Amino acid sequence: MASLPTGPPISFPATKGVLLSVVWIGLCCIAKINAGGDLGRVIGIGNNEREFDYFKLSLIWPGTSCAATPRHCCSSNACCRRSDAPTGFTIHGLWPDYSDGTWPACCPGKKFDVNVISSLLSTMNKYWPSLSCDSNISNCYGGTGLFWEHEWEKHGTCSSPVVRDEYDYFVKTLDLYFKYNVTEVLKKAGYVASNSEKYPLEGIISAIQTAFHVTPELQCSGNSIDELRLCFSKDLKLTDCEAESSTKSVLINSETSCPKYVRLPEVVSSI
Ligand code: 5GP
Repeated sequence: MASLPTGPPISFPATKGVLLSVVWIGLCCIAKINAGGDLGRVIGIGNNEREFDYFKLSLIWPGTSCAATPRHCCSSNACCRRSDAPTGFTIHGLWPDYSDGTWPACCPGKKFDVNVISSLLSTMNKYWPSLSCDSNISNCYGGTGLFWEHEWEKHGTCSSPVVRDEYDYFVKTLDLYFKYNVTEVLKKAGYVASNSEKYPLEGIISAIQTAFHVTPELQCSGNSIDELRLCFSKDLKLTDCEAESSTKSVLINSETSCPKYVRLPEVVSSI
């Protein structure tokens, strides 16, 4: 894929910036209450959290995700695109994580503005679509909003200094997604979407290891692959998810979550 356009410079007057910072700190206190069901693993929301250790690029297998959620169709839900529904892994998000198995979330930063990424929207709609209705996606502040808003506010804001701003977050994530084409690697190894086939988990892991020389992390829902995650150092070089996390073995993690034989279901576009 051709390289993505560079972002517009974003600036605002200093006085406005001070005011915004005050509002932001207030909002962050609210976020602490509303950050979602994974608070046990989320660290420090506010100004004091330490810098993250590494990134996880989390990819969704839409066939599994779309089957798992009740099919509420709306314009934002790519599960309902019939023949245009996604056929390979789509992006969930780029997540800054700590090596101890926890992660920061909802850090101070600018609120999501869809206009900032207007030049990326056609690519985003195709490769980073929402797989549910946006009205079901919570933001950091007790409301709901776009899937992209959720990912930027929850994860993107905690990705500095590697990620400079919202535009940079989405461009860097798309770049990594296209550079390391997991769907293509699995396809070449014979692992394609199917509602009848089951594939050896080990075969899928070793196809990624052979192509990228790192071990991914896998998450299953029942016997279907739900997510595949690639890990990156802060200079955005591929790294073993296992090496990055001091707390648990990724292989054990993948094997606990997934059975020995797994499925990659097709999206069944019923509506
Ligand atoms: P999101 O909120 O971005 O849609 O999904 C992130 C969810 O994935 C979190 O709520 C958390 O429960 C789960 N998760 C599992 N492993 C990780 C991880 O290593 N890092 C982060 N940030 N979230 C993880």
